[in-house]
Amino acid sequence: MNWSEYEDDVLKAGYEAHRTASEIAATLGRTSGAVRGRASALGIAKAKLSEPEESGFENEAVCQYCGQISMPGEECNCPEAKRERRIKDQILRAKNTIREVFGQACQDEGYKPVSAENIEIMDAAAVQIANYKMHAVSLVLSSGTRAKLTRGAKGVIKVERSETKKTTLEVGE
Ligand SMILES: [Zn+2]
Repeated sequence: MNWSEYEDDVLKAGYEAHRTASEIAATLGRTSGAVRGRASALGIAKAKLSEPEESGFENEAVCQYCGQISMPGEECNCPEAKRERRIKDQILRAKNTIREVFGQACQDEGYKPVSAENIEIMDAAAVQIANYKMHAVSLVLSSGTRAKLTRGAKGVIKVERSETKKTTLEVGE
């Protein structure tokens, strides 16, 4: 997020009043690392904003792929880091969908939630698919309840549920 003139003024005024980076950060709704980063960008001596209990590096991240240091709240944009974020995002989205379709929330749609163990297995399958280790997984969870996870276009993981029992009952009775 870019810093506005107003925020820069608050930062400078805070610095002149000998407030800590944490205090200034709280006023601005930013992290103390971001305040320190901006202070150094503005040429305000880091030492004047430093705090004994903080190293100044706790919010900064070193990219495990290219070794570049990212400022707090920012992420590395090398291809490997981007790929990892995309995979993590796909896993997160798949896990949310799994919970919507098979967890407590599915009762709203008239379905029965499956066991936590079943959900764990589907989560593990989603991780495999997101990492391109598998393309699709089909599971028979209990009599009639089936789950299918597939990698779709753009790598998005599709989660499907089918109830064969329900269909059989409708047809048979
Ligand atoms: Zn990187």
